[in-house]
Amino acid sequence: MTEKLSNEEILKCQWFDENYEDIKRRIAEACKKAGRDPKEVIMLAATKTVPTAVINHAIESGVDHIGENRVQELLSKKDGLLPSAHRHFIGHLQTNKVKDIVDEVEMIQSVHSLKLATEINKLCQKRGKVMDILLEVNVGNEESKSGFSVSEVESAVREIAKMTNVKVKGLMCIPPICENVQELRQYFAILSKLFIDIEAKKVDNVSMVYLSMGMSGDFEEAIMHGANIVRIGTSLFGPRNYNK
Ligand SMILES: *Cc1c(COP(=O)(O)O)cnc(C)c1O
Repeated sequence: MTEKLSNEEILKCQWFDENYEDIKRRIAEACKKAGRDPKEVIMLAATKTVPTAVINHAIESGVDHIGENRVQELLSKKDGLLPSAHRHFIGHLQTNKVKDIVDEVEMIQSVHSLKLATEINKLCQKRGKVMDILLEVNVGNEESKSGFSVSEVESAVREIAKMTNVKVKGLMCIPPICENVQELRQYFAILSKLFIDIEAKKVDNVSMVYLSMGMSGDFEEAIMHGANIVRIGTSLFGPRNYNK
């Protein structure tokens, strides 16, 4: 990087440098404990509020999957990012914003309704592409969160499987804030079971490849329950200025 970094950017790069190896080590340890190969687990950097220069520093250091939450933020950063990392959308997506991101990401992890899937399919059809998607599951049935309820997921998968230009590749969730680790484990176990059960049903055009769960505070538990994408923000880049 030749551009001069601001103080905030320098601090975030330092935070990253001090924590990246440690996170990778913790992922590897959790895999070992679970009897899994660490190569199975993708560490996605959740980059909301993180400046482009810092994201590029992370990419140069080896991060190869990044995810944004907000359409506006994604659009304002996209041109400045190094092209080598795989780009995901992981935040709440409104139907009318799909058109802005279909060409910018290779996976939308937060598909929360049939209406949204239908719109992604329609726009991808026009553009002659196929979008990989994950279905977001509201595992805790929280009012404040979007996502399919656990009981809706299978029928949603079957419905979306008929669409030609989206491909269901798995599930994602953000569990409720839990009082204790037992409660957290229950939620991860629910999603993991759903993932396995749906794969076992061999729905045409659907393969359950990615189970995206686990963030800074709980990625080790998620890995113990089979997660193969963990989405890490705070632990990699430090605290954010705004919540979410
Ligand atoms: C912010 C965010 C993360 C990362 O959260 P941290 O606790 O900062 O690691 C993961 N997934 C989604 C969907 C997010 O919005």
